[in-house]
Amino acid sequence: MATTAIEKRLLIDGEWVETGEWLEVRSPYSAEVVGRVAKAGPDDARRAIDAAERAMRDPLPAHKRAEILVRVAGQLGRRHEEAAQIICAEAGKPLKAARLEASRAMSTYTFAAVEARKLAGEVVPMDASQAGEGKLAFTLRRPLGVVGAISPFNFPLNLVAHKIAPALAAGCAVVLKPASQTPLSALFLAELETEVGLPPGWLNVVAGSSSEIGDVLVDDERVAAITFTGSGAVGWGLKERAPRKRVNLELGNSTPVIVHADADVEEAAAKLAANAFSFAGQSCISVQRIYVQRTVYEDFVARFLPKVEALVVGDPADEETDVGPVIDAEARERIVDWIDEARQRGAQVLAGGDLDGELIRPTVLADVPADAKVACDEVFGPVVTVGAYGELAEALERANGTRYGLQAGIFTADVRAALRAAHELEFGGVTVNEAPTFRADQMPYGGVKDSGNTREGPAYAVRELTEERVVVIQL
Ligand code: NAP
Repeated sequence: MATTAIEKRLLIDGEWVETGEWLEVRSPYSAEVVGRVAKAGPDDARRAIDAAERAMRDPLPAHKRAEILVRVAGQLGRRHEEAAQIICAEAGKPLKAARLEASRAMSTYTFAAVEARKLAGEVVPMDASQAGEGKLAFTLRRPLGVVGAISPFNFPLNLVAHKIAPALAAGCAVVLKPASQTPLSALFLAELETEVGLPPGWLNVVAGSSSEIGDVLVDDERVAAITFTGSGAVGWGLKERAPRKRVNLELGNSTPVIVHADADVEEAAAKLAANAFSFAGQSCISVQRIYVQRTVYEDFVARFLPKVEALVVGDPADEETDVGPVIDAEARERIVDWIDEARQRGAQVLAGGDLDGELIRPTVLADVPADAKVACDEVFGPVVTVGAYGELAEALERANGTRYGLQAGIFTADVRAALRAAHELEFGGVTVNEAPTFRADQMPYGGVKDSGNTREGPAYAVRELTEERVVVIQL
Protein backbone atom coordinates (compact mmCIF):
# COMPACT_ATOMS: atom_id res chain seq x y z
CA MET A 1 0.00 0.00 0.00
CA ALA A 2 1.34 3.47 -0.86
CA THR A 3 2.53 5.43 2.18
CA THR A 4 -0.11 8.05 1.49
CA ALA A 5 -2.87 5.43 1.11
CA ILE A 6 -6.14 6.27 2.78
CA GLU A 7 -7.80 3.92 5.26
CA LYS A 8 -11.49 4.26 5.97
CA ARG A 9 -13.96 2.35 8.09
CA LEU A 10 -17.67 1.89 7.51
CA LEU A 11 -20.21 4.26 8.96
CA ILE A 12 -23.02 2.50 10.82
CA ASP A 13 -25.23 4.23 13.39
CA GLY A 14 -22.77 7.09 13.78
CA GLU A 15 -19.85 4.74 14.54
CA TRP A 16 -16.81 4.11 12.36
CA VAL A 17 -16.72 0.36 12.15
CA GLU A 18 -14.00 -2.18 11.31
CA THR A 19 -15.09 -5.61 10.16
CA GLY A 20 -11.82 -7.54 10.07
CA GLU A 21 -11.95 -7.66 6.29
CA TRP A 22 -10.69 -4.97 3.93
CA LEU A 23 -11.49 -3.92 0.40
CA GLU A 24 -8.42 -2.65 -1.48
CA VAL A 25 -8.80 0.42 -3.68
CA ARG A 26 -6.34 0.59 -6.57
CA SER A 27 -5.45 3.42 -8.92
CA PRO A 28 -6.86 2.64 -12.38
CA TYR A 29 -3.72 4.32 -13.76
CA SER A 30 -0.85 2.76 -11.82
CA ALA A 31 -2.63 -0.20 -10.16
CA GLU A 32 -1.05 0.98 -6.92
CA VAL A 33 -3.14 0.53 -3.78
CA VAL A 34 -4.39 4.01 -2.91
CA GLY A 35 -6.56 3.03 0.00
CA ARG A 36 -8.49 0.36 1.82
CA VAL A 37 -11.95 0.29 3.24
CA ALA A 38 -13.54 -1.97 5.84
CA LYS A 39 -15.61 -4.52 3.93
CA ALA A 40 -19.24 -4.96 4.91
CA GLY A 41 -21.21 -8.18 4.78
CA PRO A 42 -24.98 -8.75 4.87
CA ASP A 43 -25.13 -8.45 8.67
CA ASP A 44 -23.48 -5.02 8.54
CA ALA A 45 -26.03 -3.96 5.92
CA ARG A 46 -28.86 -5.13 8.18
CA ARG A 47 -27.40 -3.23 11.13
CA ALA A 48 -27.21 -0.17 8.92
CA ILE A 49 -30.91 -0.52 8.06
CA ASP A 50 -31.74 -0.96 11.78
CA ALA A 51 -29.87 2.30 12.48
CA ALA A 52 -31.58 4.17 9.65
CA GLU A 53 -35.00 3.02 10.77
CA ARG A 54 -34.29 4.05 14.36
CA ALA A 55 -33.04 7.46 13.22
CA MET A 56 -36.26 8.15 11.33
CA ARG A 57 -38.36 7.57 14.46
CA ASP A 58 -37.03 10.90 15.69
CA PRO A 59 -37.48 13.17 12.64
CA LEU A 60 -35.06 16.03 12.09
CA PRO A 61 -36.82 19.34 11.47
CA ALA A 62 -36.30 20.91 8.06
CA HIS A 63 -34.16 23.78 9.36
CA LYS A 64 -31.71 21.33 10.95
CA ARG A 65 -31.53 19.23 7.79
CA ALA A 66 -30.93 22.37 5.75
CA GLU A 67 -28.22 23.59 8.14
CA ILE A 68 -26.36 20.28 7.93
CA LEU A 69 -26.54 20.35 4.13
CA VAL A 70 -25.27 23.93 3.97
CA ARG A 71 -22.43 23.10 6.33
CA VAL A 72 -21.38 20.12 4.21
CA ALA A 73 -21.30 22.44 1.17
CA GLY A 74 -19.03 24.77 3.17
CA GLN A 75 -16.75 21.91 4.22
CA LEU A 76 -16.54 20.74 0.63
CA GLY A 77 -15.40 24.24 -0.27
CA ARG A 78 -12.72 24.20 2.40
CA ARG A 79 -11.53 20.67 1.56
CA HIS A 80 -12.06 20.98 -2.17
CA GLU A 81 -8.52 19.98 -3.19
CA GLU A 82 -8.54 16.96 -0.89
CA ALA A 83 -11.84 15.83 -2.43
CA ALA A 84 -10.42 16.24 -5.94
CA GLN A 85 -7.28 14.29 -5.06
CA ILE A 86 -9.33 11.39 -3.69
CA ILE A 87 -11.50 11.28 -6.84
CA CYS A 88 -8.38 11.39 -9.01
CA ALA A 89 -6.63 8.64 -7.04
CA GLU A 90 -9.43 6.12 -6.89
CA ALA A 91 -11.28 6.76 -10.18
CA GLY A 92 -8.29 7.79 -12.32
CA LYS A 93 -10.17 10.95 -13.21
CA PRO A 94 -7.88 13.74 -14.47
CA LEU A 95 -7.42 16.39 -11.80
CA LYS A 96 -9.08 19.11 -13.91
CA ALA A 97 -12.27 17.05 -14.12
CA ALA A 98 -11.97 15.88 -10.51
CA ARG A 99 -11.87 19.50 -9.29
CA LEU A 100 -14.95 20.24 -11.35
CA GLU A 101 -16.72 17.30 -9.77
CA ALA A 102 -15.82 18.50 -6.26
CA SER A 103 -17.25 21.94 -7.09
CA ARG A 104 -20.40 20.37 -8.45
CA ALA A 105 -20.87 18.39 -5.25
CA MET A 106 -20.91 21.72 -3.36
CA SER A 107 -23.63 22.89 -5.70
CA THR A 108 -25.63 19.69 -5.16
CA TYR A 109 -25.54 20.17 -1.37
CA THR A 110 -26.43 23.85 -1.67
CA PHE A 111 -29.50 23.11 -3.79
CA ALA A 112 -30.50 20.22 -1.50
CA ALA A 113 -30.44 22.64 1.46
CA VAL A 114 -32.80 24.97 -0.42
CA GLU A 115 -35.16 22.06 -1.08
CA ALA A 116 -35.15 21.03 2.59
CA ARG A 117 -36.43 24.49 3.51
CA LYS A 118 -39.05 24.53 0.73
CA LEU A 119 -40.51 21.09 1.30
CA ALA A 120 -44.27 21.61 1.64
CA GLY A 121 -47.55 20.29 0.35
CA GLU A 122 -50.36 22.25 -1.23
CA VAL A 123 -53.92 23.32 -0.58
CA VAL A 124 -56.59 21.35 -2.46
CA PRO A 125 -59.45 23.53 -3.77
CA MET A 126 -62.19 21.53 -2.04
CA ASP A 127 -65.20 23.63 -2.98
CA ALA A 128 -64.40 22.99 -6.64
CA SER A 129 -66.73 19.98 -6.34
CA GLN A 130 -70.01 19.57 -4.54
CA ALA A 131 -68.52 16.73 -2.51
CA GLY A 132 -65.82 19.00 -1.15
CA GLU A 133 -68.02 21.88 -0.03
CA GLY A 134 -67.51 22.84 3.60
CA LYS A 135 -64.16 21.10 3.83
CA LEU A 136 -60.53 22.22 3.87
CA ALA A 137 -57.88 19.85 2.45
CA PHE A 138 -54.15 20.10 2.08
CA THR A 139 -51.28 17.72 1.47
CA LEU A 140 -48.23 16.97 3.53
CA ARG A 141 -45.08 15.72 1.84
CA ARG A 142 -43.91 12.78 3.91
CA PRO A 143 -40.51 11.09 3.61
CA LEU A 144 -40.91 7.68 1.97
CA GLY A 145 -38.81 5.90 4.59
CA VAL A 146 -35.35 4.36 4.65
CA VAL A 147 -33.58 4.79 1.31
CA GLY A 148 -31.10 2.25 -0.05
CA ALA A 149 -28.70 4.10 -2.35
CA ILE A 150 -26.35 2.42 -4.81
CA SER A 151 -23.84 4.56 -6.72
CA PRO A 152 -21.43 4.01 -9.64
CA PHE A 153 -17.68 4.58 -9.96
CA ASN A 154 -17.64 7.37 -12.51
CA PHE A 155 -18.68 10.34 -10.35
CA PRO A 156 -17.75 8.89 -6.97
CA LEU A 157 -18.37 12.15 -5.08
CA ASN A 158 -21.07 14.07 -6.90
CA LEU A 159 -23.31 11.13 -7.72
CA VAL A 160 -23.12 10.06 -4.09
CA ALA A 161 -24.04 13.66 -3.22
CA HIS A 162 -27.03 13.38 -5.60
CA LYS A 163 -28.20 10.35 -3.59
CA ILE A 164 -27.59 11.37 0.00
CA ALA A 165 -28.16 15.15 0.01
CA PRO A 166 -31.73 15.10 -1.43
CA ALA A 167 -32.59 12.10 0.77
CA LEU A 168 -31.67 14.10 3.86
CA ALA A 169 -33.53 17.12 2.48
CA ALA A 170 -36.59 14.87 2.11
CA GLY A 171 -36.23 13.60 5.68
CA CYS A 172 -35.11 10.08 4.74
CA ALA A 173 -32.28 8.15 6.38
CA VAL A 174 -29.94 6.38 3.97
CA VAL A 175 -27.97 3.18 3.67
CA LEU A 176 -25.43 3.83 0.92
CA LYS A 177 -23.51 1.20 -1.00
CA PRO A 178 -20.85 2.97 -3.08
CA ALA A 179 -19.09 1.34 -6.05
CA SER A 180 -16.39 -1.06 -4.83
CA GLN A 181 -13.80 0.60 -7.08
CA THR A 182 -14.44 4.06 -5.58
CA PRO A 183 -15.64 3.94 -1.96
CA LEU A 184 -13.15 6.53 -0.65
CA SER A 185 -14.96 9.63 -1.95
CA ALA A 186 -18.25 8.36 -0.50
CA LEU A 187 -16.69 7.80 2.92
CA PHE A 188 -15.00 11.21 2.72
CA LEU A 189 -18.43 12.76 2.19
CA ALA A 190 -19.82 10.71 5.06
CA GLU A 191 -17.03 12.07 7.29
CA LEU A 192 -18.02 15.62 6.37
CA GLU A 193 -21.68 14.91 7.18
CA THR A 194 -20.83 13.53 10.63
CA GLU A 195 -18.34 16.33 11.33
CA VAL A 196 -21.00 18.98 10.75
CA GLY A 197 -23.41 17.33 13.16
CA LEU A 198 -25.49 14.71 11.34
CA PRO A 199 -27.00 12.61 14.13
CA PRO A 200 -26.31 8.83 14.16
CA GLY A 201 -28.20 6.60 11.75
CA TRP A 202 -29.19 9.22 9.17
CA LEU A 203 -26.37 8.15 6.88
CA ASN A 204 -24.81 4.70 6.91
CA VAL A 205 -22.17 3.63 4.39
CA VAL A 206 -21.50 -0.02 3.68
CA ALA A 207 -18.95 -0.92 1.03
CA GLY A 208 -18.71 -4.56 0.03
CA SER A 209 -20.08 -7.29 -2.19
CA SER A 210 -22.69 -5.71 -4.41
CA SER A 211 -24.87 -8.78 -4.70
CA GLU A 212 -24.86 -9.47 -0.94
CA ILE A 213 -25.63 -5.89 0.06
CA GLY A 214 -27.99 -5.43 -2.88
CA ASP A 215 -29.93 -8.52 -1.78
CA VAL A 216 -30.32 -7.15 1.74
CA LEU A 217 -31.60 -3.80 0.43
CA VAL A 218 -34.04 -5.59 -1.90
CA ASP A 219 -35.29 -8.10 0.68
CA ASP A 220 -35.66 -5.85 3.73
CA GLU A 221 -39.19 -4.44 3.89
CA ARG A 222 -38.02 -1.46 5.94
CA VAL A 223 -36.18 -0.11 2.88
CA ALA A 224 -38.93 1.86 1.17
CA ALA A 225 -36.95 3.08 -1.81
CA ILE A 226 -33.87 2.12 -3.74
CA THR A 227 -32.13 4.84 -5.67
CA PHE A 228 -29.68 3.36 -8.15
CA THR A 229 -27.24 4.87 -10.63
CA GLY A 230 -25.31 2.47 -12.80
CA SER A 231 -25.77 -0.01 -15.61
CA GLY A 232 -29.14 -1.05 -16.98
CA ALA A 233 -28.55 -4.76 -16.44
CA VAL A 234 -28.17 -4.26 -12.69
CA GLY A 235 -30.74 -1.46 -12.35
CA TRP A 236 -33.66 -3.08 -14.13
CA GLY A 237 -32.86 -6.34 -12.32
CA LEU A 238 -33.22 -4.56 -8.96
CA LYS A 239 -36.55 -3.10 -10.05
CA GLU A 240 -37.91 -6.51 -11.03
CA ARG A 241 -36.83 -7.98 -7.73
CA ALA A 242 -38.37 -5.20 -5.62
CA PRO A 243 -41.83 -4.60 -7.11
CA ARG A 244 -43.23 -3.16 -3.86
CA LYS A 245 -40.51 -0.56 -3.38
CA ARG A 246 -39.93 2.69 -5.19
CA VAL A 247 -36.91 1.89 -7.38
CA ASN A 248 -35.45 5.00 -9.02
CA LEU A 249 -33.08 4.24 -11.86
CA GLU A 250 -30.45 6.48 -13.48
CA LEU A 251 -28.83 4.36 -16.21
CA GLY A 252 -26.72 4.56 -19.33
CA ASN A 253 -26.97 6.23 -22.73
CA SER A 254 -25.51 6.16 -26.22
CA THR A 255 -25.41 9.91 -26.54
CA PRO A 256 -26.17 11.40 -29.97
CA VAL A 257 -25.65 14.94 -31.19
CA ILE A 258 -26.67 16.57 -34.45
CA VAL A 259 -24.60 19.30 -36.14
CA HIS A 260 -26.90 21.03 -38.61
CA ALA A 261 -25.42 22.90 -41.59
CA ASP A 262 -26.37 26.34 -40.21
CA ALA A 263 -24.55 25.73 -36.90
CA ASP A 264 -21.36 27.42 -35.77
CA VAL A 265 -19.25 24.46 -36.88
CA GLU A 266 -16.10 25.64 -35.09
CA GLU A 267 -17.94 25.98 -31.78
CA ALA A 268 -19.58 22.58 -32.23
CA ALA A 269 -16.23 20.93 -33.03
CA ALA A 270 -14.59 22.47 -29.95
CA LYS A 271 -17.39 21.54 -27.55
CA LEU A 272 -17.75 18.03 -28.89
CA ALA A 273 -14.01 17.29 -28.85
CA ALA A 274 -13.93 18.31 -25.19
CA ASN A 275 -17.05 16.36 -24.25
CA ALA A 276 -16.56 13.08 -26.08
CA PHE A 277 -13.36 12.25 -24.21
CA SER A 278 -13.59 13.89 -20.81
CA PHE A 279 -12.91 11.25 -18.12
CA ALA A 280 -12.08 8.91 -21.03
CA GLY A 281 -15.73 8.91 -22.11
CA GLN A 282 -16.89 7.36 -18.83
CA SER A 283 -19.80 9.67 -18.31
CA CYS A 284 -23.33 8.42 -18.90
CA ILE A 285 -23.81 11.39 -21.27
CA SER A 286 -20.42 11.35 -22.96
CA VAL A 287 -20.84 12.33 -26.62
CA GLN A 288 -20.81 9.07 -28.57
CA ARG A 289 -22.55 9.53 -31.94
CA ILE A 290 -22.11 12.72 -33.98
CA TYR A 291 -24.37 13.26 -37.01
CA VAL A 292 -23.28 16.14 -39.25
CA GLN A 293 -25.29 17.55 -42.16
CA ARG A 294 -23.56 16.44 -45.35
CA THR A 295 -22.80 19.93 -46.68
CA VAL A 296 -20.61 20.75 -43.64
CA TYR A 297 -19.38 17.22 -42.84
CA GLU A 298 -15.86 17.64 -44.29
CA ASP A 299 -15.51 21.06 -42.68
CA PHE A 300 -16.61 19.68 -39.29
CA VAL A 301 -14.24 16.70 -39.44
CA ALA A 302 -11.34 18.96 -40.49
CA ARG A 303 -11.93 21.16 -37.43
CA PHE A 304 -12.78 18.31 -35.03
CA LEU A 305 -9.81 15.97 -35.57
CA PRO A 306 -6.97 18.39 -34.64
CA LYS A 307 -8.81 19.24 -31.43
CA VAL A 308 -9.10 15.54 -30.60
CA GLU A 309 -5.44 14.94 -31.45
CA ALA A 310 -4.47 17.85 -29.19
CA LEU A 311 -6.01 16.26 -26.08
CA VAL A 312 -3.31 15.27 -23.61
CA VAL A 313 -3.41 11.57 -22.76
CA GLY A 314 -1.62 10.49 -19.61
CA ASP A 315 -1.39 10.34 -15.85
CA PRO A 316 -4.61 11.68 -14.32
CA ALA A 317 -2.59 13.32 -11.55
CA ASP A 318 -0.80 15.56 -14.10
CA GLU A 319 -2.31 19.03 -14.28
CA GLU A 320 -2.22 18.95 -18.10
CA THR A 321 -3.94 15.60 -18.65
CA ASP A 322 -7.28 15.59 -20.44
CA VAL A 323 -7.73 11.85 -20.96
CA GLY A 324 -6.62 9.25 -18.44
CA PRO A 325 -7.30 5.55 -18.01
CA VAL A 326 -10.61 3.70 -18.13
CA ILE A 327 -11.59 2.11 -14.85
CA ASP A 328 -9.92 -1.30 -15.29
CA ALA A 329 -8.29 -3.75 -17.70
CA GLU A 330 -11.59 -5.50 -18.38
CA ALA A 331 -13.18 -2.25 -19.52
CA ARG A 332 -10.14 -1.44 -21.65
CA GLU A 333 -10.24 -4.84 -23.38
CA ARG A 334 -13.97 -4.56 -24.06
CA ILE A 335 -13.60 -1.09 -25.60
CA VAL A 336 -10.65 -2.17 -27.78
CA ASP A 337 -12.70 -5.20 -28.93
CA TRP A 338 -15.59 -2.92 -29.88
CA ILE A 339 -13.24 -0.65 -31.88
CA ASP A 340 -11.84 -3.73 -33.66
CA GLU A 341 -15.33 -5.02 -34.42
CA ALA A 342 -16.24 -1.70 -36.06
CA ARG A 343 -12.95 -1.64 -37.98
CA GLN A 344 -13.45 -5.20 -39.24
CA ARG A 345 -16.90 -4.21 -40.44
CA GLY A 346 -15.56 -1.37 -42.55
CA ALA A 347 -15.28 1.57 -40.17
CA GLN A 348 -12.51 4.06 -40.87
CA VAL A 349 -10.33 5.11 -37.96
CA LEU A 350 -9.90 8.89 -38.25
CA ALA A 351 -8.05 9.27 -34.94
CA GLY A 352 -6.74 6.96 -32.22
CA GLY A 353 -7.98 3.40 -32.44
CA ASP A 354 -4.99 2.09 -30.51
CA LEU A 355 -3.32 2.21 -27.12
CA ASP A 356 -0.81 4.68 -25.72
CA GLY A 357 0.81 2.41 -23.15
CA GLU A 358 -2.24 1.11 -21.32
CA LEU A 359 -4.43 4.10 -22.18
CA ILE A 360 -6.91 4.16 -25.05
CA ARG A 361 -6.16 7.07 -27.34
CA PRO A 362 -9.17 9.28 -28.13
CA THR A 363 -10.75 7.44 -31.05
CA VAL A 364 -12.87 8.82 -33.87
CA LEU A 365 -14.58 6.34 -36.21
CA ALA A 366 -16.41 7.04 -39.48
CA ASP A 367 -18.51 4.81 -41.76
CA VAL A 368 -19.62 2.72 -38.81
CA PRO A 369 -22.44 0.22 -39.51
CA ALA A 370 -25.54 1.20 -37.53
CA ASP A 371 -25.62 -2.14 -35.73
CA ALA A 372 -21.93 -2.14 -34.69
CA LYS A 373 -21.56 -2.11 -30.91
CA VAL A 374 -19.87 1.32 -30.88
CA ALA A 375 -22.90 2.73 -32.70
CA CYS A 376 -25.79 1.19 -30.81
CA ASP A 377 -24.55 0.22 -27.36
CA GLU A 378 -23.02 2.38 -24.64
CA VAL A 379 -19.24 2.49 -25.22
CA PHE A 380 -18.37 4.14 -21.89
CA GLY A 381 -14.91 4.84 -23.25
CA PRO A 382 -13.01 7.45 -25.32
CA VAL A 383 -14.66 6.57 -28.63
CA VAL A 384 -16.92 8.64 -30.86
CA THR A 385 -18.50 7.96 -34.25
CA VAL A 386 -19.10 10.57 -36.95
CA GLY A 387 -21.49 10.27 -39.86
CA ALA A 388 -23.16 12.47 -42.48
CA TYR A 389 -26.92 12.99 -42.97
CA GLY A 390 -29.08 14.69 -45.58
CA GLU A 391 -32.25 16.13 -44.00
CA LEU A 392 -32.96 16.84 -40.34
CA ALA A 393 -35.63 14.11 -40.27
CA GLU A 394 -32.97 11.54 -41.06
CA ALA A 395 -30.67 12.82 -38.29
CA LEU A 396 -33.50 12.73 -35.75
CA GLU A 397 -34.40 9.20 -36.76
CA ARG A 398 -30.79 8.02 -36.46
CA ALA A 399 -30.32 9.79 -33.12
CA ASN A 400 -33.48 8.10 -31.83
CA GLY A 401 -32.42 4.70 -33.16
CA THR A 402 -31.28 3.46 -29.78
CA ARG A 403 -32.80 1.73 -26.78
CA TYR A 404 -31.41 4.54 -24.63
CA GLY A 405 -32.90 7.97 -23.89
CA LEU A 406 -30.90 10.06 -21.41
CA GLN A 407 -29.66 13.20 -23.20
CA ALA A 408 -29.16 14.28 -26.81
CA GLY A 409 -28.16 17.54 -28.47
CA ILE A 410 -28.31 19.67 -31.57
CA PHE A 411 -26.14 22.50 -32.86
CA THR A 412 -28.12 24.83 -35.12
CA ALA A 413 -28.81 28.53 -35.69
CA ASP A 414 -32.39 27.80 -36.75
CA VAL A 415 -34.86 28.09 -33.90
CA ARG A 416 -37.36 25.90 -35.72
CA ALA A 417 -34.82 23.09 -36.14
CA ALA A 418 -33.90 23.44 -32.46
CA LEU A 419 -37.51 23.26 -31.32
CA ARG A 420 -38.27 20.37 -33.64
CA ALA A 421 -35.32 18.48 -32.16
CA ALA A 422 -36.48 19.32 -28.64
CA HIS A 423 -39.89 17.83 -29.44
CA GLU A 424 -38.80 14.82 -31.47
CA LEU A 425 -35.65 13.56 -29.75
CA GLU A 426 -36.83 10.81 -27.40
CA PHE A 427 -34.57 11.66 -24.47
CA GLY A 428 -34.91 13.00 -20.93
CA GLY A 429 -32.92 16.10 -21.91
CA VAL A 430 -32.06 17.94 -25.13
CA THR A 431 -29.28 20.53 -25.35
CA VAL A 432 -29.17 23.20 -28.05
CA ASN A 433 -25.79 24.65 -29.06
CA GLU A 434 -24.26 22.86 -26.10
CA ALA A 435 -22.81 19.36 -25.88
CA PRO A 436 -25.35 16.88 -24.51
CA THR A 437 -22.77 16.08 -21.83
CA PHE A 438 -23.79 19.30 -20.11
CA ARG A 439 -25.39 19.04 -16.71
CA ALA A 440 -25.96 21.62 -14.02
CA ASP A 441 -26.86 19.99 -10.73
CA GLN A 442 -30.19 21.74 -10.21
CA MET A 443 -31.52 20.52 -13.57
CA PRO A 444 -34.00 17.65 -13.79
CA TYR A 445 -31.75 14.88 -15.00
CA GLY A 446 -32.77 11.40 -16.01
CA GLY A 447 -33.79 9.19 -18.86
CA VAL A 448 -36.57 7.51 -20.75
CA LYS A 449 -36.60 4.08 -22.42
CA ASP A 450 -33.73 1.91 -21.12
CA SER A 451 -31.99 4.91 -19.54
CA GLY A 452 -34.14 4.99 -16.45
CA ASN A 453 -37.39 6.01 -14.83
CA THR A 454 -36.66 8.96 -12.59
CA ARG A 455 -35.22 12.47 -12.38
CA GLU A 456 -32.39 13.62 -10.16
CA GLY A 457 -31.38 17.15 -9.26
CA PRO A 458 -32.28 17.96 -5.65
CA ALA A 459 -35.75 19.40 -6.30
CA TYR A 460 -36.76 16.40 -8.40
CA ALA A 461 -35.08 13.77 -6.24
CA VAL A 462 -36.83 15.16 -3.15
CA ARG A 463 -40.15 14.81 -4.97
CA GLU A 464 -39.29 11.18 -5.78
CA LEU A 465 -38.32 10.40 -2.17
CA THR A 466 -41.45 11.84 -0.58
CA GLU A 467 -45.13 11.00 -0.92
CA GLU A 468 -48.24 13.08 -0.53
CA ARG A 469 -50.58 12.57 2.37
CA VAL A 470 -53.87 14.39 2.07
CA VAL A 471 -55.51 15.84 5.19
CA VAL A 472 -59.25 16.61 5.00
CA ILE A 473 -60.91 18.80 7.65
CA GLN A 474 -64.65 19.28 8.04
CA LEU A 475 -65.22 22.96 8.72
P1 NAP B 1 -22.63 -0.96 -12.36
O1 NAP B 1 -21.67 -2.04 -12.64
O2 NAP B 1 -24.06 -1.22 -12.65
O3 NAP B 1 -22.43 -0.58 -10.83
C1 NAP B 1 -23.15 0.46 -10.23
C2 NAP B 1 -23.36 0.12 -8.77
O4 NAP B 1 -24.19 -1.04 -8.68
C3 NAP B 1 -22.07 -0.22 -8.02
O5 NAP B 1 -22.17 0.27 -6.71
C4 NAP B 1 -22.08 -1.73 -8.03
O6 NAP B 1 -21.36 -2.29 -6.97
C5 NAP B 1 -23.56 -1.99 -7.84
N1 NAP B 1 -24.00 -3.33 -8.21
C6 NAP B 1 -23.47 -4.16 -9.14
N2 NAP B 1 -24.15 -5.34 -9.14
C7 NAP B 1 -25.13 -5.22 -8.20
C8 NAP B 1 -26.16 -6.07 -7.73
N3 NAP B 1 -26.33 -7.29 -8.24
N4 NAP B 1 -26.99 -5.62 -6.77
C9 NAP B 1 -26.83 -4.40 -6.25
N5 NAP B 1 -25.86 -3.54 -6.64
C10 NAP B 1 -25.04 -3.94 -7.61
O7 NAP B 1 -22.25 0.39 -13.12
P2 NAP B 1 -20.84 1.12 -13.18
O8 NAP B 1 -19.96 0.34 -14.09
O9 NAP B 1 -20.33 1.46 -11.83
O10 NAP B 1 -21.28 2.49 -13.84
C11 NAP B 1 -21.39 2.64 -15.19
C12 NAP B 1 -22.83 2.72 -15.63
O11 NAP B 1 -23.51 3.70 -14.89
C13 NAP B 1 -22.93 3.17 -17.08
O12 NAP B 1 -23.93 2.44 -17.73
C14 NAP B 1 -23.34 4.63 -16.94
O13 NAP B 1 -23.98 5.15 -18.07
C15 NAP B 1 -24.22 4.58 -15.76
N6 NAP B 1 -24.37 5.91 -15.16
C16 NAP B 1 -25.57 6.55 -15.25
C17 NAP B 1 -25.72 7.83 -14.72
C18 NAP B 1 -27.03 8.56 -14.75
O14 NAP B 1 -27.18 9.49 -13.97
N7 NAP B 1 -27.97 8.19 -15.59
C19 NAP B 1 -24.62 8.45 -14.12
C20 NAP B 1 -23.42 7.76 -14.06
C21 NAP B 1 -23.31 6.49 -14.58
P3 NAP B 1 -19.87 -2.85 -7.17
O15 NAP B 1 -19.05 -1.71 -7.59
O16 NAP B 1 -19.54 -3.37 -5.83
O17 NAP B 1 -19.96 -3.92 -8.22
